[in-house]
Amino acid sequence: MKEIQNYINGKFQPPVKGRTLDDINPATGKIIGIIPASTSDDVQQAVDAANDARTAWASLTIDERVHWLDKIANSLESQSEKIASLESLDTGKPISLARAVDAARSVTNFRFFAKFAKDYTDEKFEMEDAINHVILKPVGIAGLITPWNLPLYLLSWKIAPAIVMGNTVVAKPSELTPLTANLLAEVIDEIGLPAGVVNIVHGSGPEAGKAIVEHPEISLISFTGGTATGRKVAATAAPMFKKLSLELGGKNASIVLDDANLETTIPGVARAGFLNQGQVCLCGSRIFVSEKIWDEFVPRFVDYVKNMKVGDPSSDDSDLGALVSSAHRDKVESYIHLAQREGGKILCGGHTPKLDSPFDKGAFLEPTIVSGLDYLSRTATEEIFGPVVTIHPFGTDEEAIKMANCTDYGLAGSVWTGDSERGTKVAEKIETGMVWVNTWLHRDLRVPFGGVKDSGVGREGGRWSLGFFSEAVNICVKS
Ligand code: NAP
Repeated sequence: MKEIQNYINGKFQPPVKGRTLDDINPATGKIIGIIPASTSDDVQQAVDAANDARTAWASLTIDERVHWLDKIANSLESQSEKIASLESLDTGKPISLARAVDAARSVTNFRFFAKFAKDYTDEKFEMEDAINHVILKPVGIAGLITPWNLPLYLLSWKIAPAIVMGNTVVAKPSELTPLTANLLAEVIDEIGLPAGVVNIVHGSGPEAGKAIVEHPEISLISFTGGTATGRKVAATAAPMFKKLSLELGGKNASIVLDDANLETTIPGVARAGFLNQGQVCLCGSRIFVSEKIWDEFVPRFVDYVKNMKVGDPSSDDSDLGALVSSAHRDKVESYIHLAQREGGKILCGGHTPKLDSPFDKGAFLEPTIVSGLDYLSRTATEEIFGPVVTIHPFGTDEEAIKMANCTDYGLAGSVWTGDSERGTKVAEKIETGMVWVNTWLHRDLRVPFGGVKDSGVGREGGRWSLGFFSEAVNICVKS
């Protein structure tokens, strides 16, 4: 049992009011840790520390800050296996996924932003009689709020660009998955990063998260989470004119055209549907298949998914582990019941798998495929965020585009085809921030990441992150 504390001003400390929350392993239902249930008092202490550290941190050269990022990356890398096992314990995800995705990307995020910021040169715009220098200044204190599905991956995606651009940080990880944020605090402490540059406050969203968003001295909020929470964050932050980035929910389409290579498309679409038990904002949970190949695609896809193994997250054989909590599993299961009420047919899955102790009390759910639903039904348009996909036939490419664009969300999508030019043409008409052709979640950290419509506001990644975590100031010098 791990007793976690807040990390404020370079010190581990208990919450001011002394209240705590349990951290539960969703694969067994057992308590694995205790975390602070922080309040606005703890957030105030973190803001004071971030304020005290601001001037000295902002006055370091970019090379000096880059050096700190590299030190964090090296230290995290030496503990990759520990990151993977903590992430698997806390989220229920398979250890193989936690190694390949969570641990690896957390290290890469620090290395990538270190190099990217070092290579960045200020823009200059010449006029006939003057020259404009656009410089990027720190914003001040950044408030960073992250969800439970990719805990350290998403926290490091925000902390790295925030501090490399000279800001100090108050971060709140999800109360459901605090272990790797705490490991990052240990790493930061061990390498001796100046006190107050990174402050981590644990606790619930409605209490600690809200206090961050409301704090007048926090001038930037980077939030990743659900659309409903994002709306509340925006309602508080926008009237205070805070810089705001909202990375929200999705209901992404995987479009399979009639000329797709099914050998590669079937595993690709299954990975897009069920990676991390379907709990990735980019997951392709609506699958649109050309009616010309429907009869061949569907049975082969169902067979493939039936063979995905659900079980012990620490086993290398498990394709799917547990969902993040029993409450979330129940919510996802309620969508399976809704799908049946809406006239859907369960082609596979739909139940809690029978697992031996200690996993018999875990939040597991079989990967589930539902057909026969109207593409405008609630099941096919609301974000479920679990291992449940709906599958629908379409006639022409235009029809597939119309069906893909029918939700309020606009995060991502994928198109599967033997003709990449045709795929690109379809991709251009999908109303989302990102579309992949013949692949999914193939990430280049230099490109913009973010959504349109109810999936969010703003972009992060590469130069978009450097721009967001800074204020661009123009200095015009007359010759
Ligand atoms: P969530 O409930 O919105 O929570 C996200 C974060 O916000 C958590 O740290 C949460 O704290 C905190 N929070 C909750 N209420 C708050 C409030 N009133 N003020 C400030 N912070 C508050 O989302 P989730 O269930 O953790 O994550 C799943 C969602 O995230 C899905 O919709 C998914 O699509 C989305 N997501 C989007 C992206 C993207 O890049 N677009 C990436 C990953 C996930 P607690 O958890 O401690 O309550």
